[in-house]
Amino acid sequence: MPNFTLHLARRAGFCMGVKRALQLAEAAAAEKSAPVWTLGPLIHNNAVVAYLAQRGVGAVNTPAEIPAGATALIRAHGLPPDEEAALRRVATVVDATCPLVKKNQQLIEQLSAEKFWVLIAGDAGHAEARGLIARAAAGAVISSLADAEKLTLPPRAALVAQTTFSPALYARIAATLTARFPALKVYPTLCAATEARLKEVREMAARCEIVVIVGDRHSANTARLAEAAERARVVWVESAAELNADDWGDVKNVGVSAGASAPDWVIAEVVAKLRVKS
Ligand code: SF4
Repeated sequence: MPNFTLHLARRAGFCMGVKRALQLAEAAAAEKSAPVWTLGPLIHNNAVVAYLAQRGVGAVNTPAEIPAGATALIRAHGLPPDEEAALRRVATVVDATCPLVKKNQQLIEQLSAEKFWVLIAGDAGHAEARGLIARAAAGAVISSLADAEKLTLPPRAALVAQTTFSPALYARIAATLTARFPALKVYPTLCAATEARLKEVREMAARCEIVVIVGDRHSANTARLAEAAERARVVWVESAAELNADDWGDVKNVGVSAGASAPDWVIAEVVAKLRVKS
């Protein structure tokens, strides 16, 4: 029977932007007494999607699927301007874009107005990166150091990051590019809360043999937490049901953290199951 000390991350679970989007969605559904729709799930978590469906918040894939005159909510990741305009044509829109993402969008619009070519360090295809690049008059998204090494930049260029991009990779990309293009303007657009979580998990992995990461498998920020914990054995679970500590042997220290889309009640179930073993 394993017998270990449990270490819980101080910063885990819903971030400010996710909490705000959830509150706005629930408030809109309650106020209208009618369904509120999002393009794609509001939060990448099956338990939360089911919880929201019971409270009148549903997901569709395109604006065409939203009933005319209904309420639609823009998720914390934001939307490209043309998709937002399409949404406004069919629905009353509640904008739950995270204020930090909004600030990043406005920065890119400003840089474009000043004729900068805008390079975005982001996860290709990620909703936030799509919304950011759509605001650049000219630019590109890169995801790796290899991309940065083969890139040629125009003389007037700026580098920004998707708020949840890897801080370590952003620093390497910025260093590589500024060595080659000293005039490149680099902006610190990473989400400080995400950076603090990653730092905490990295420190946790240095003193724990196992780090349990709670979060949906489609969640990019959860994947980043799992990467940050690599020094330890990482056990990534979506729910307590997936957790099996029986074969952990003689571990002494186990850490627990959770992605920004993991609800408190799922984290609490995982911790409760681990407490029985510790
Ligand atoms: S991770 Fe940061 S930027 Fe992204 S939604 Fe949460 S608070 Fe906003």
